Amino acid sequence: MDLTLSDEHRQLRELARRFTDERIVPHAARWDREEAIDRDLVPALGEVGFLGLGIDEKHGGSGGDNLAYCLVLEEVARGDSAVRGIISVSLGLVAKSIAKHGTEEQKQRWLPGLTAGTEIGCFALTEPGTGSDAGSLTTKATRTDNGWVLNGRKVFITNGTWADVALVFARTGGPGPKGISAFLIPTDTHGFTATEIKGKLGMRGQATAEITLDDVEVPHDALLSEEGFKLAMGALDKGRMSVAAGCVGAARGALEAALGYAKEREQFGKPIAGFQLVQELLADMAVETDAARLLTWRVADLADRNLPFSTEASMAKLYASEAAVKVANNAVQVFGGYGYIDEYPVGKYLRDARVTTLYEGTSQIQKLLIGRALTGINAFV
Ligand SMILES: Cc1cc2nc3c(=O)[nH]c(=O)nc-3n(C[C@H](O)[C@H](O)[C@H](O)COP(=O)(O)OP(=O)(O)OC[C@H]3O[C@@H](n4cnc5c(N)ncnc54)[C@H](O)[C@@H]3O)c2cc1C
Repeated sequence: MDLTLSDEHRQLRELARRFTDERIVPHAARWDREEAIDRDLVPALGEVGFLGLGIDEKHGGSGGDNLAYCLVLEEVARGDSAVRGIISVSLGLVAKSIAKHGTEEQKQRWLPGLTAGTEIGCFALTEPGTGSDAGSLTTKATRTDNGWVLNGRKVFITNGTWADVALVFARTGGPGPKGISAFLIPTDTHGFTATEIKGKLGMRGQATAEITLDDVEVPHDALLSEEGFKLAMGALDKGRMSVAAGCVGAARGALEAALGYAKEREQFGKPIAGFQLVQELLADMAVETDAARLLTWRVADLADRNLPFSTEASMAKLYASEAAVKVANNAVQVFGGYGYIDEYPVGKYLRDARVTTLYEGTSQIQKLLIGRALTGINAFV
């Protein structure tokens, strides 16, 4: 599927294709087995500008609009969704939040390293007791003469053990979303501990961590925003677009693998691609993938024209994540028994896709957000 893209967009997509084919595809299965990507990939992503998309050049960014970001994420996720996730969090959730809400000093401290990939960011919202209901989080930040002291626990934090800076959401006021602030915590601060969570179903190349904040003392200028929940929800709106773009890439990768296999694999004396029921599997996969991409690009288009896009981002994320699971599952079906072993890529596409219906708001939460926008009635309470 293609729509009219500028020459710049085409060149960027071509660069992302080449980078993915050369630097990601050959290693993705090994990274999945070893539960870690080669860390030198992160500065390499920075060198080609993929970690600076949407960030001002004066802070080390590479510019570009939201569509450019989606094009790159689709290509990268075709190679390995775990790598896409590292970009979505370090750039999409952390660097972009600093660029939007930070003081000049905060931008100068963190953005050059994050965009170069010499430093990594993590986004610490979820806690053991508060996932979908993030507005009830209990990590506490107490003001002192010298700054703030943070105490609490975070869980499932992408990039957690690799990060140099954690964007931590903590309670500074009363109960509910309004009492939450956002802090930039250097991860080498005394009392900050990140412990890796091993044995994930998918996204195994990226580090996921539990974080403990035990009397973590930071100066006043660690505060990024007193409206922390609003900042988090704004970041997650764009985050949903980036997850959706990644899902399109994973679905496309699964479709391309299944198409190639179906043309080669013979049963009953002919390629299985010649059987109508196999073509049905492939046709459904192609329609789901293209529909997901169109919904995703609509979000990018709205954002690029500075129009509201929250509900459309929920729609795209809901549709694309469910589509990625279905498409990858169909790909396993096309591969037959060979789809079930990790010598072939399709099982990984399925395992990686599975988390996308869970994080950055589960599919049920997206439906409640869309329902609230349609009806004006809040079904969360
Ligand atoms: C690999 C991975 C990486 C992650 N990365 C990050 C990260 O970088 N930073 C971060 O902060 N978090 C991260 N998360 C956490 C993720 O965002 C949460 O897991 C997610 O928000 C769901 O929260 P929960 O797991 O506590 O599930 P719960 O909120 O307990 O939900 C359990 C079930 O109940 C349903 N449910 C809950 N409330 C409602 C409702 N009101 N109506 C209908 N159904 C409902 C949910 O849809 C779900 O099916 C990550 C998670 C994983 C698995």
